[in-house]
Amino acid sequence: MFKKILIANRGEIACRIMRTARRLGIATVAVYSEADAEALHVRMADEAVPIGPPPSAESYLKIDRILDACRRSGAEAVHPGYGFLSENTEFAAALADAGIVFIGPGPEAIAAMGDKIESKKLARAAGVATVPGHLDVVPEAEAAVEIARDIGYPVMIKASAGGGGKGMRIARNDAEVRDGFRAATSEAKASFADDRVFIEKYIEEPRHIEIQVLGDMHGNIVHLFERECSIQRRHQKVVEEAPSPFLDGNTRAAMGGQAVALARAVAYRSAGTVEFIVDRERNFYFLEMNTRLQVEHPVTEIVTGLDLVELMIRIAAGETLPFRQQDLRLSGWAIEARVYAEDPARNFLPSIGRLVRYRPPEGEGVRLETGVFEGAEISLYYDPMIAKLIAYGPDRDSAIARLRAALDGFYVAGVQHNIAFLAAVAGSPRFRAGALSTNFIAEEFPGGFAPPKGFVAADRIILLAAALAHRRLRERETATGGARVGARPAIEDEVVVLRDGDEHAVAVRPEGTAYRLDFAGESHLAMTEWQLGQPLMLMRLDDARVTVQIERLPGAAFRLLHGGVVREVRVLSRRAAELLALMPRKKAADTSRLVLSPMPGLLSAIVVTPGQEVKAGEPLAIVEAMKMENVLRAERDGRIAEIRAQPGDSLAVDQVILAFE
Ligand code: ADP
Repeated sequence: MFKKILIANRGEIACRIMRTARRLGIATVAVYSEADAEALHVRMADEAVPIGPPPSAESYLKIDRILDACRRSGAEAVHPGYGFLSENTEFAAALADAGIVFIGPGPEAIAAMGDKIESKKLARAAGVATVPGHLDVVPEAEAAVEIARDIGYPVMIKASAGGGGKGMRIARNDAEVRDGFRAATSEAKASFADDRVFIEKYIEEPRHIEIQVLGDMHGNIVHLFERECSIQRRHQKVVEEAPSPFLDGNTRAAMGGQAVALARAVAYRSAGTVEFIVDRERNFYFLEMNTRLQVEHPVTEIVTGLDLVELMIRIAAGETLPFRQQDLRLSGWAIEARVYAEDPARNFLPSIGRLVRYRPPEGEGVRLETGVFEGAEISLYYDPMIAKLIAYGPDRDSAIARLRAALDGFYVAGVQHNIAFLAAVAGSPRFRAGALSTNFIAEEFPGGFAPPKGFVAADRIILLAAALAHRRLRERETATGGARVGARPAIEDEVVVLRDGDEHAVAVRPEGTAYRLDFAGESHLAMTEWQLGQPLMLMRLDDARVTVQIERLPGAAFRLLHGGVVREVRVLSRRAAELLALMPRKKAADTSRLVLSPMPGLLSAIVVTPGQEVKAGEPLAIVEAMKMENVLRAERDGRIAEIRAQPGDSLAVDQVILAFE
């Protein structure tokens, strides 16, 4: 076994790999860019070697720097994690030349699976079902039209070198093929310096289900069942689970068998993932093979009881797989949600900055993978992931319940994040019913993620929590407010919670150490120890444990979050509410007509002109930040009044770009 390994990565995955290495008694070496000198993976490692400036191209992607770090530290092997150099044949080969072990598959397998056209040809030859289509490079737009007609609409135009959902276009007619061909080609060229595209059938309403495989150096290959990753946004995974609620035993065995056959065809060793899409009739088609550890590997670890990183390390050290296919069993259910620093209200644009408060949830059935800590910086140079939250239980319902409770208790401040959005996904009836497809998010959240209109189930909890918080504050005020005990003002039992202009009367009365809450004809018993300043109200409501995030705002107001619903409310005594109703309403500064920059960045284009009519969802401007082009889209229909910034401007956050009429 190795004595020391280097982890050529950062963030949560570097930390996760180190945890296993440490357990195996292997010393760990971190590498880090200048932006990561204080990062968690550096703190966790036994040693750390700086490898260059913040941009990944000048640090985490520099093969010679990593080789150098291996030599300087004496690491015998390198785990590449995911992303960065994990699927880079040149890197794997360079390590081999230097006599350092790559904890992953051989360079030939990486190369064979690195190209979508070539890997599909290989898969077909190995008897694996592939999406019907044309496995040759499409030379130009008119040829694309012919091929598309031949396959039959709808089709998908895909970059052969593609990855990360880039260079893909759906086309439903000739005109869309011409546009899609050009768009996919130029995106592929810009992203991968390789403009080859091909065309295959677009499978409607598919599910993304992938098989985890594992092979050793002695020709043993097994699969560790499936993960369902159908909850995607723009072809990128958001929530993953194992097993899939859709597969039956026969389909599972058939997919597993084909995945193993493909792995065998390239003499695969280490952990790898064979991705399939599955249609409504449970026909499945090979998409691609990822020759590395996947982001979502923890759900497989939980339902198989195995440590994939440990197995990868043991395989790289030459050990034989310690089990055969028939020894493996699925047990329980696990669901992972990817928590990102991004703003769902602003089309999920990355949100950078300092994690002023960071309180991940704990509890039974919860596993957290993270590379951050309170006070850490979410930098513009890398993936804005905050953590992976994995919840598990004996069955899917219990895993979902734990995931929802954990999301309610996951407190992050300082950056925008997608926790409420994830909670809304996990709480949606369709998700709970397991009726998934890759269109789930687009269909369930058309127009993006916004607080639900009207009074939803979470609102009841939110109103009760607000009334209870108000009561606790009043108790404290009166207890500390004056020494003259006899002169304590009475605390009103009846309060009015104002939400969206609606009044909701809630009665709160102490009952022993608990509180009796009466609202809308129902009576509840609540217990909490919440105090001002605590971001979470942990409450026992009747027989349930409930967590509500709570923040006090000026003017007897609170911002509360529960079950994916964020609300701002005011809590007033009945008398104060009556007085308020008589007051003329002050108008707040109205920014709803303005389009503001959601992040610091460079305004690269404005695609509308004054006087133009736009529909909700249409692009307005492009802001370049974090090396990504972020398209700002109209939130509603309207006419552009004026443009207040120019292409080339560097924008501050919330700077006005344009105004609607
Ligand atoms: P990438 O390498 O960029 O991730 P993939 O080929 O793995 O690209 O596809 C990513 C996602 O795109 C899939 O999970 C699926 O949601 C969708 N997709 C890909 N090919 C098809 C297809 N032929 N029909 C329908 N959806 C597809």
